[in-house]
Amino acid sequence: MSEIHCIGVLTSGGDAPGMNAAIRAVVRSAKYYGLRVMGIKNGYEGLLHGDVFEMDARFVSETMHRGGTILKTARSKEFKEIEGVRRAVTEAKYFGIDGLVVIGGDGSFRGARDLCMEGLPTIGIPGTIDNDIPYTEYTIGFDTAINTAKEAVDKIRDTASSHSRCNIIKVMGRNSGNIALNVGIAAGAEAILIPEKEIDFEQDIIRPIEQGRDRNKKHFIIIMAEGVKADVTELEKKIEAEMGIETRTTILGYVQRGGSPTVLDRVRASEMGCRAVQLLKEGIGNRIIGVKNNEIFDMDIYEGLEMPNTPREDLIELSKILSI
Ligand code: ADP
Repeated sequence: MSEIHCIGVLTSGGDAPGMNAAIRAVVRSAKYYGLRVMGIKNGYEGLLHGDVFEMDARFVSETMHRGGTILKTARSKEFKEIEGVRRAVTEAKYFGIDGLVVIGGDGSFRGARDLCMEGLPTIGIPGTIDNDIPYTEYTIGFDTAINTAKEAVDKIRDTASSHSRCNIIKVMGRNSGNIALNVGIAAGAEAILIPEKEIDFEQDIIRPIEQGRDRNKKHFIIIMAEGVKADVTELEKKIEAEMGIETRTTILGYVQRGGSPTVLDRVRASEMGCRAVQLLKEGIGNRIIGVKNNEIFDMDIYEGLEMPNTPREDLIELSKILSI
């Protein structure tokens, strides 16, 4: 692979707290190693439209603590077609970019893989609150999101216990139950419903509520990932009919996306940003960075994206044991 002198960086797909720490680390590390660095606004859409500018170390000052992404993010239909990808490579070359860092989720990584195939060495940094990219244990923004959701659930619990209610709380996760599982365990939920598992109403919802009631429990928390295919209004009615407990639903929604990133998200994002630059500096592209056994690692982008999505059976089992 030929030498890389100028790195481009973009954020793509859904924003996540900690993306700014990753951008900052890319910019500062590039400067440290004597490389030029170009910021690309609005993800792949921005690259296609030449929304590109040179960044210096100062540009990323005072950004670490801010949620969202200072480079903005967008979704691009055009980029999903091969002609779009080829045009993006041409644009990158026009600006002198010979290596790219993409911070985003699974969709963004598929785009990054296409860029690699078209000859632009690209490194992927996982940035999504969902933590739903199979090759890595952790994605930037996940820790902040689960802490935000945990705080909200704790507050709802105060009201639930005052009123002897059952609260269904919907958290983010269209295809992945990772947020629900972690928040559910942290909040001591009676039941956790995730998209990866079929729901047995009696077994998964009624039984743990009954068990809690046998222990004199008066309030119940059910954490449900947004991707679960069940109508909450129906669910409320069924629980009320079967258990005689007033049941309410809260959808946490976008509050989980924002906010100042946690220490873990900032540190991991910084580590990953630096690793991305170190790889490109050595002329190494076509890799994705992740966390395995609590350590940063990188792997081949093609291999990484082939890995199947498997739910955390250990956490599912734990949540069942603890709701007895
Ligand atoms: P995320 O990266 O958070 O999963 P998206 O799935 O919306 O978010 O992807 C962000 C962008 O990445 C899309 O707008 C598109 O330009 C590109 N992209 C998504 N999926 C693919 C794909 N299968 N092949 C190529 N590019 C893709």
